Amino acid sequence: MLGQLAAQNPEALVWGGVALYLLGYVASLWLHPWTRCGVCKGNPRRYGSIFTRAWRPCGRCGGTGRKTRLGVRVLGIGRER
Ligand SMILES: [Zn+2]
Repeated sequence: MLGQLAAQNPEALVWGGVALYLLGYVASLWLHPWTRCGVCKGNPRRYGSIFTRAWRPCGRCGGTGRKTRLGVRVLGIGRER
């Protein structure tokens, strides 16, 4: 059946693949709605260069080291920050 479909309409396989990918992406957003903060790379303590033991939290993520993934924000999935 799939072979017939592919013979008649090869694009159907491509779109089937895209649909599967999107389904997996949305499932992944549900399971893992967070990603590393792009500024501090998941290490939200910004240490000084002279007083190396002093630090401040990363301004972008507010010291959490994480940010919501793009798809989460676009689709409104999961918990808000
Ligand atoms: Zn950060």
